[in-house]
Amino acid sequence: MAEILKPTDENLRILREFLRLGGLVAVPTETVYGLAANALDADACAKIFEAKKRPSNDPLICHVASYEALEAFCETNEASKILAEAFWPGPLTFVLPKKDTIPSIVTADLDSVAVRSPNHPVFRQLIEGCDFPLAAPSANPFAYISPTRASHVEANLGDRIEYILEGGPCEYGVESTIVDLRDPTNPKILRYGALPVEKIENALKKRLPRPTPKLDQEIIAIAPGSLPKHYSPRTPLELRASTVSERELIESDQTTAYLLIRKPKSARAANIHWLSEKGKLETIASSLFAKLRELDDAEYQRIIAEEAPELGLGLAINDRLRRASFR
Ligand code: AMP
Ligand code: MG
Repeated sequence: MAEILKPTDENLRILREFLRLGGLVAVPTETVYGLAANALDADACAKIFEAKKRPSNDPLICHVASYEALEAFCETNEASKILAEAFWPGPLTFVLPKKDTIPSIVTADLDSVAVRSPNHPVFRQLIEGCDFPLAAPSANPFAYISPTRASHVEANLGDRIEYILEGGPCEYGVESTIVDLRDPTNPKILRYGALPVEKIENALKKRLPRPTPKLDQEIIAIAPGSLPKHYSPRTPLELRASTVSERELIESDQTTAYLLIRKPKSARAANIHWLSEKGKLETIASSLFAKLRELDDAEYQRIIAEEAPELGLGLAINDRLRRASFR
């Protein structure tokens, strides 16, 4: 079983050396837990695909300590500079033209690379002492619910990796927002995530093309991991565009779990669950994956989930729920 290590200076030293020599370590970030390897070591990165059972055509995000560190790995531009100044370190990933230093296994043979500088204090302490970037997808088996606690990683990958670095529950609880900056004059949102798109648009002073379920095929051609089925519990999940009525909740039977955006007015039963007291999007996002896991483990026959409002973080929450509901 994997060992869960506290982020002491000594443990961080051990883990950096383990990574440098080609090992895999699950690490906390402010979005979700990642499964990290030395991004310059193709054999180490191959182990990520193997441990997650991730198809080789689904590229990895490379994590760096600073914007300046990008120089060695990709071609930066004016748009990446503006966005890094506004949002790094933080939950925003750039897709930029890659340099040959990044092995092709990391980028699934694409001529671009996805890069981000995370701001979780434990991750920063780890990566600031590494002289290599860390390739790190979410630390979950391919297509299952992403992990937002060290215990989630242990439950799913504990028998396939040696170390999990403890960093507490993830602050945002959904993955980073991804923006395609290959052409700096025409940036596109590739994935909704923890940084609301409206903030990115404000920083760049323009509206950006956004992903929609209809554009999935187009987005997959650029970002091959954007599959319709993802973040999925084993239990079938049905997504409701409108609020579930109190009457339906009261009449519901115990084999169906309800996953509501906010606490219902009066209906209370063991099968009725909510992601926030009052509908605050930050709270909904940070509790979403942990709650989905809890319901999946409770062996309900189905889960009925409510959509969040379609703005800000709500876009990322709904994107995850939609993919979780795909059959
Ligand atoms: P994950 O690390 O599991 O959150 O997934 C990372 C996602 O980032 C992948 O599934 C891709 O869709 C996207 N991605 C990674 N690298 C690239 C790239 N070079 N170009 C476009 N999208 C990328
Ligand atoms: Mg993932």
